Amino acid sequence: MEPIPCVNCGTFFTSRNCKQNYCSEPGCQRARKAVWQRYKLKSDDDYRTQQHLSHQKWLQRNPGYYRSYRRRNPDKVQRNRALQIIRNRRNRQRFSSKKLPNDPLIAKMDARKSCPFNMVGQFYLVPLIAKMDVSRVNIYTISDR
Ligand SMILES: [Zn+2]
Repeated sequence: MEPIPCVNCGTFFTSRNCKQNYCSEPGCQRARKAVWQRYKLKSDDDYRTQQHLSHQKWLQRNPGYYRSYRRRNPDKVQRNRALQIIRNRRNRQRFSSKKLPNDPLIAKMDARKSCPFNMVGQFYLVPLIAKMDVSRVNIYTISDR
């Protein structure tokens, strides 16, 4: 069989069968399982219910886990808040019958003029149109005139 590129890392490998798209590296196998689980959670109601119950049991055995996780990872909290704003906006649009004409989903070239917000600090660039990863950027003031 001819080597094919791994869907996750792009390394060429020889697949065992025509369904194998991920190489055997542990990181790629984790990615494969995550994709499978995401699909299963979307498509299988019983699996979703079982996962939810299992997670509830785990939460009862590990009280305060998420509170301490958020305390240990403030950057993840910040990232999640930024992404939740996007998810809320998407859900609002998806479930509302009429589209909001002024909802800034696409960049407006003149938006900066009316923005009193000081654009210095740490931000997340969240792509709304193209499928890309979220990237974190720092914006600094170069000169103060
Ligand atoms: Zn791989």
